[in-house]
Amino acid sequence: MLDTDFFRRWMAATAAAVDREASRLTELDAAIGDADHGSNMQRGFTAVTAALERESPATPGAVLTLAGRQLISTVGGASGPLYGTLLRRTGKALGDEPEVTDGRFADALEAGVEAVAQLGGAKAGDKTMLDALLPAVGALRSSAGAARDAALAGALATVPLQARKGRASYLGERSIGHQDPGATSAALLVAALVEAAG
Ligand code: ADP
Ligand code: MG
Ligand code: MG
Repeated sequence: MLDTDFFRRWMAATAAAVDREASRLTELDAAIGDADHGSNMQRGFTAVTAALERESPATPGAVLTLAGRQLISTVGGASGPLYGTLLRRTGKALGDEPEVTDGRFADALEAGVEAVAQLGGAKAGDKTMLDALLPAVGALRSSAGAARDAALAGALATVPLQARKGRASYLGERSIGHQDPGATSAALLVAALVEAAG
């Protein structure tokens, strides 16, 4: 079973990974965007960390909905509303139980990822965060480690793709040959699940 503390650890491990990788995320965004993805994610997850300390949400669902709200309200870029929607929708799908099964979490994350696709209008292969999130959701049915590997592979597989959504799409064919920053940060979010579990 996954309890409230697991979800707090997930958010804390994501915040730490984002801090560690911020300059790389910004470098990736400098190549095909506007060089702010690292600082956007850092600002968002710093706010998430502060809010979780301030409010001590009591359930897994409440942890993720609070985190999602922070991302929406503090991150100006496209990634804020998208990641915010991911966590809010996942949290909502977890309901208000104090503990959830792995299967319930996989279902909830699937609903969250679907909400991201709906909001942003992107699909698999459009060179976005969904290219890491979609394979991760499927693999999470097996294990968190499998989800981490699938997300990382999905992020690496964005390199040869042409961007169809977001700022990078303005570059057309010139977006080919670069790893998508949002898929890269999504792989960090998924990898943090393994740290939260261990
Ligand atoms: P901005 O592009 O507004 O500066 P960020 O740099 O923080 O925002 O985030 C860029 C990332 O957001 C992209 O690398 C991509 O993964 C993701 N993204 C952008 N638009 C979409 C979309 N419509 N659907 C899914 N993900 C998207
Ligand atoms: Mg950007
Ligand atoms: Mg921006």
